Amino acid sequence: MVQRLLQPGEIEALDHNAIPRLLLPHPRSLFIARAARLRQLAKNEIKGIPVGETLRGYLLLMAALVDAQAAVSQSFPSDAFALPDAADIAVSLEHNMPPLPVSGARPPSWRSVFNALLDQLDPLAEGQPQIASVLAELRALDSAELEGCADAVLSELTDSVNPLHAPFVAAALQIMWTMRAGQLDAQRVAPLVTNTLCPVCGAHPVASVIRIGGQSQGYRYLQCSCCASEWHMVRVKCSCCEHTAHIAYQSIEPADDAPEIANKANDPSKVARAETCDDCRTYRKIFNQEHDYNVEPLADDLASLALDLLVGEAGYARASGNPLLWFNAA
Ligand SMILES: [Zn+2]
Ligand SMILES: [Zn+2]
Repeated sequence: MVQRLLQPGEIEALDHNAIPRLLLPHPRSLFIARAARLRQLAKNEIKGIPVGETLRGYLLLMAALVDAQAAVSQSFPSDAFALPDAADIAVSLEHNMPPLPVSGARPPSWRSVFNALLDQLDPLAEGQPQIASVLAELRALDSAELEGCADAVLSELTDSVNPLHAPFVAAALQIMWTMRAGQLDAQRVAPLVTNTLCPVCGAHPVASVIRIGGQSQGYRYLQCSCCASEWHMVRVKCSCCEHTAHIAYQSIEPADDAPEIANKANDPSKVARAETCDDCRTYRKIFNQEHDYNVEPLADDLASLALDLLVGEAGYARASGNPLLWFNAA
């Protein structure tokens, strides 16, 4: 009698208690949900994430940029997002390397995607001279300058980029990586030895999120800043140095005049928290879908600058940046 052997992916699929280790992105719904969340946050109606006037304008601009990402990811010819050869992917996976690495050569089609993104943003520039001038500067970059900017963005070399240009270049790169990551087989992509980097592309996470629903209920995931894949990491563990001994959480307490919180499950200070580590003195934010269904790691991270200030004053450094917001020494 011949017994068929189950492949590793099939075994996991049979185990209903198995934690889904990797959640690959669905680009279309991801960008639509992210833009909607940015607009919701800009209305300053999320308790626990107070948004001031200056930041509100920026969140709305980034919502328009994410709209443009959604439009390009739907309309651009799909051959621009072709995966590498299956043999190359197999070699990467065999050596525990990310199959779509952010380091090294990029598909040249990313520059056409970048131009399509700028075209989408043209209507936004009408009557807004500051935005029009940034778009004109971006169009004037020659290919060496553009590739240099992409290298710096993907390596997070904040002092090598123009902070006004970087979010637009990062947005085009996100389309490239998200569209390709969505075509991979999650069962085949193993976590890297360093669980603090994205197993799909090797980039840093933008923030972490506690998910609800299905087999992911209550588990913490790190969301990749580039390809938006989410990978599992146990809770109460530093997402920078992986130590667990000196983790603490900080959040913005609701104002004194806030209505009484009848239900602890809706405690606004639990939607957004900073997870600090005294071993490496860094922090990353953690958003909890159990307390707000619509949390979106990148959007919520961008909107919670007040939390960055609070934790920064306490002496902790951000573990890594947000691709839609850049600061440099200048
Ligand atoms: Zn990634
Ligand atoms: Zn640490």
